[in-house]
Amino acid sequence: MSDHLQPETLALHTGVHRSQFNEHSEAMYLTSSFVFESAAQAAARFSGNEPGNIYSRFTNPTVTAFEERLAALEGAEACIATSSGMSAILACTMGLLSAGDHIVASRSLFGATVNLFNNILKRFNIDTTFVSATDVQSWQAAIQPNTKLFFLETPSNPLTEISDITELSKIAKKAGIWLAVDNCFCTPILQKPLELGADIVIHSATKYLDGQGRVLGGAVLGKRELLMDGGIYGFLRTAGPTLSAFNAWVILKGLETLKLRIEAHSSNALQMAQWLEAQPNVTRVFYPSLASHPQHALAQCQQKSGGGIVTFEVKGGKEAAWRVIDSTRLISITANLGDAKSTLTHPATTTHARISQEARDAAGITDGLLRIAVGLEAVQDLQADLHRGLT
Ligand SMILES: *Cc1c(COP(=O)(O)O)cnc(C)c1O
Repeated sequence: MSDHLQPETLALHTGVHRSQFNEHSEAMYLTSSFVFESAAQAAARFSGNEPGNIYSRFTNPTVTAFEERLAALEGAEACIATSSGMSAILACTMGLLSAGDHIVASRSLFGATVNLFNNILKRFNIDTTFVSATDVQSWQAAIQPNTKLFFLETPSNPLTEISDITELSKIAKKAGIWLAVDNCFCTPILQKPLELGADIVIHSATKYLDGQGRVLGGAVLGKRELLMDGGIYGFLRTAGPTLSAFNAWVILKGLETLKLRIEAHSSNALQMAQWLEAQPNVTRVFYPSLASHPQHALAQCQQKSGGGIVTFEVKGGKEAAWRVIDSTRLISITANLGDAKSTLTHPATTTHARISQEARDAAGITDGLLRIAVGLEAVQDLQADLHRGLT
């Protein structure tokens, strides 16, 4: 079915397995374990000779429905759902890597991902070299004999830098390295990394896939062989960073409106970015669809539109940035993104506060920088809300 249908159709009709009651909306299976008809069936299930559910740490029908639907949208053979975006990254790295392996990662990553690589994986003798998100040659130059994984986000948080997935996948392939792309900002509606040559897609389902800021969730997607036999599924089954059936159901239903929402987020964000560029107290605006964006041309061919995140720098550093935040009445002061409600953050003192000033400077996270995750409100109301603090 998946081969012929458009994303908005797949988001409604894949992963549907009706129970004997023929419910129209997907059922939620809140159960920790599953009953066998006999001792022989239990044995067959445990040995893997018979397919079927055993225990919800590793499979549950509601979670499977979510996995099937997201896999159809990403064009992936397989999907493994996890309890959060961070546990998806943990499952991916613990599943694929061993002590002594090396990662080359974009310098412009989500703060907790940097901490995972630098402070946790490092203790297990997995080292990471951080390179520029946009300089393809620096990835090539950072490869060591033990490099196993390239890891990036595009567009990046918060500066919306665009990494060239196609070019980096060529370098990775030649060197026998897996390329993992955190597709949180674009979602499969705007960008399909596997089609561009990536081996693995990571999601924080907490963001746009849910889309209303309700639950945490995550996913790892890619070839069946890599996910199921390559150790990622084994890690989930053994260690248990499992997506709950309730959260899976919320996100499964969230996927049904993903295309509509992403297109609306994108259209609102573009209007906000253009308006911000015209404000005298705004020194810079970072948004992939603006002609002023350094990788505008690459963004135009790699992703369908700019997405919902706009970052801008105000004159006057931290004090001025905080004034913009504290003058809002509508926009929520919170670090989450991908919510229907717009959210505003000061990266230097929140999401990126735990990394050193030196690393922040290298990443371009200045004190005057603000990130707005543009929601689904009327653009004129959002503009009025920011205007108060900008003047
Ligand atoms: C939020 C986020 C994560 C982590 O996801 P959680 O669900 O919060 O664990 C990873 N990558 C990106 C780009 C994110 O925005």
